[in-house]
Amino acid sequence: MYNFEIKTKVKFGEGSLKVLQEIKNKKILIITDPFMIKSKAIDKILVNLEKDSYEIFSDIVPDPPIETIVSGIEVVKNANPDIIIALGGGSAIDASKAIMDFSKKIIQSKDVKFIAIPTTSGTGSEVTSFSVITDKQKGEKYPLVSDDLLADIAILDPELVRTVPNFITADTGMDVLTHAIEAYVSTEANDFSDALAEKAIKLTFDYLLRAYKDGNDIKAREKMHNASCLAGMAFNQTSLGINHSIAHVLGGKFHIPHGRCNAILLPYVIEYNANIQGYTNTDYTVASKKYANISKLLGLNTSSVRVGVKNLVSEIKKLQKELNIPTKLTQCKVNLTDINSLEEEIADLSIKDGCTKTNPKQPTQRDIIDILNKIK
Ligand code: NAD
Repeated sequence: MYNFEIKTKVKFGEGSLKVLQEIKNKKILIITDPFMIKSKAIDKILVNLEKDSYEIFSDIVPDPPIETIVSGIEVVKNANPDIIIALGGGSAIDASKAIMDFSKKIIQSKDVKFIAIPTTSGTGSEVTSFSVITDKQKGEKYPLVSDDLLADIAILDPELVRTVPNFITADTGMDVLTHAIEAYVSTEANDFSDALAEKAIKLTFDYLLRAYKDGNDIKAREKMHNASCLAGMAFNQTSLGINHSIAHVLGGKFHIPHGRCNAILLPYVIEYNANIQGYTNTDYTVASKKYANISKLLGLNTSSVRVGVKNLVSEIKKLQKELNIPTKLTQCKVNLTDINSLEEEIADLSIKDGCTKTNPKQPTQRDIIDILNKIK
């Protein structure tokens, strides 16, 4: 028996922030990053809330560290809110989820309602049971996983993503694609998650470049916002794969933006998982057939599974080029000597990462080092 459920209510489309006007007589804590204050993006939220009903904690930084979560718990303790609103990219939403959950467990605060409002189209964190927190001292990222981290409501208003600079649109958009593709070939994939992943993949190929070229293209922004959420719903059912395992480790060690790291790895992880060199026409793996299915969905030549997989890899590389995404770690200010000296540790940590369990193939240390060699 299988189970499929989505706890989070999703309000989406232009104007969806207005749903906040329904909140009456509640104490609200908004958790966000400093950019939302500086850019006045937060005003788009405040205008919909009752006067004097909110406090703001705006200390969240990218790849949120444990220390910020600890400060946030203290803020919750003092503010004693009925509702927490997380506003920002994956970092702000993940940090808010961890703060909300630990606050409930440590200080036994009341049953706080949690509203997630993403301002990037990438992580899908508004509908996932994951929160990725960084241990700065160890240089490691830890995915917390619990249904207690799920938001009650997610609001996807494309108006908030207009200001995302094109390079962040590119990175986060490739994060969406990686989530959807990893969910699609996960060992836990099923008809329900496949439907969500397929739609997210199609929307990303149709709209990411448009959103990248013109941030004010509100239709493209809306479609990428939806794609991000759909991909989040998909991988929340299936978990992910080694693309994310390696990206978590590289992100923790070298602070490469998460989506960019995923993008750099994606073509090589597909080639590794599909293993098309080693197969004859009759013994293709489930994963290679599913990669070929994606090519079919995109209208690419799939005269054989091998051709389908190769064309998917080429199409992804083409998209990355159009988005001006680096293809090597050394183009992301990472020192070659550091990668070489840490390669065994990176491989071992990647194997231990929770996302590896659902990868279609279980890698050895050598396999991960081979992938790293291709992206150095
Ligand atoms: P982010 O939240 O780290 O934000 C990146 C930058 O974009 C920040 O400087 C932020 O201020 C800026 N920004 C955000 N919204 C903006 C806007 N509307 N206009 C202009 N600038 C804006 O980036 P992200 O990619 O959304 O999140 C990455 C984090 O999410 C990583 O820590 C990653 O590990 C985690 N993650 C979580 C999940 C999950 O399911 N919880 C999934 C994937 C990734």
